[in-house]
Amino acid sequence: LRILGIETSCDETAAAVVTRLEDGTGIIEGDVVLSQLDEHSAYGGVVPEIAARAHVEALDSLIEEALQRAGVTLKEIDAVAATSGPGLIGGLIVGLMTGKAIARAAGKPLYAVNHLEGHALTARLTDSLTFPYLMLLVSGGHTQLVLIRGIGDYERWGTTIDDALGEAFDKTAKLLGLPYPGGPAVERAAATGNPKRFNFPRPLRGEERLDFSFSGLKTAVRQAAESIAPVSDQDISDICASFQRAISRTLEDRIGRGLKRFLAEFPEVEGVPALVVAGGVAANQELRRTLQALCDENGFRFVAPPMQLCTDNAVMIAWAGLERMATGAAPDDLDVQPRSRWPLDSEAKAVIGYGK
Ligand code: ATP
Ligand code: MG
Ligand code: FE
Repeated sequence: LRILGIETSCDETAAAVVTRLEDGTGIIEGDVVLSQLDEHSAYGGVVPEIAARAHVEALDSLIEEALQRAGVTLKEIDAVAATSGPGLIGGLIVGLMTGKAIARAAGKPLYAVNHLEGHALTARLTDSLTFPYLMLLVSGGHTQLVLIRGIGDYERWGTTIDDALGEAFDKTAKLLGLPYPGGPAVERAAATGNPKRFNFPRPLRGEERLDFSFSGLKTAVRQAAESIAPVSDQDISDICASFQRAISRTLEDRIGRGLKRFLAEFPEVEGVPALVVAGGVAANQELRRTLQALCDENGFRFVAPPMQLCTDNAVMIAWAGLERMATGAAPDDLDVQPRSRWPLDSEAKAVIGYGK
């Protein structure tokens, strides 16, 4: 099975050609991602209208390039998979409409893919993962701990009640005068900082439910910065290091609870249980070390796919489409609509078309 994947939900325009072999493994044949970072950086965040226009301008030629790299024509693909939510509606319309048009013109089935499902399943492309497993998605728009029970069978255990983790990094960077995107800038500054100088809050720590909260942390960072004048580079480094430390401690608590819940719910799971991480924040080395240690402690395998598969890409959309195809699920009708909000849980399962 060979599929063309299209991703346009946020600030990356991407197209990919991926093949799934009989044994369930996959081959990435063509993979192109165009980041709109430069277009948005002046605004310190993603501007929806600029994003939508940029997708329109770039998508056609990116699809052509992905096919070219794979060395195939539309005749040689079996289906089209396009992100249909969640995300910025303008971009979703561009990608899904293009997917529909290609599917229609080439006479191929269309799979409307949930972006979060792409993140959830991609690790299976590079790692022989068996169900069930846990996924932590930490990006600019999402912070979720999800139980992946099977293809199309997801249960969200925790989510952020305010800011996403990447958003917390971006906002912290902005108020410290660091460049966008904030994650890499904060991590760089933190490298030479004292993580013990500021005692930032660790929201929801100790609570039974598995949700996250990061807006209080951002406020504490602002107050710390305002309490020092003038703020030196060393102060900024200390704030960033203390900020990262607070996040690590928070995740230790939240994810630690999640791992224990998993072991309680699946005492007889086959092999070593796994925690998969996805999203741009997964690039953070301190966060990786924290999660690795947490997994070691609890007898879990820590699975971090290659970074280009953690951030937004079309390979994951193609792969989610392929996994669904392989279950024999029916494709979507061409009148399927994009959804800016589309949670990845049982409700999504009903809408997503599985088991039709
Ligand atoms: P979506 O949330 O819709 O999947 P996105 O574009 O917001 O998409 P990604 O592209 O996956 O998310 O990730 C971008 C986010 O990752 C930004 O918030 C950025 O600050 C953060 N990030 C990138 N590198 C690092 C890092 N080294 N440390 C912490 N955060 C990082
Ligand atoms: Mg992005
Ligand atoms: Fe994403």
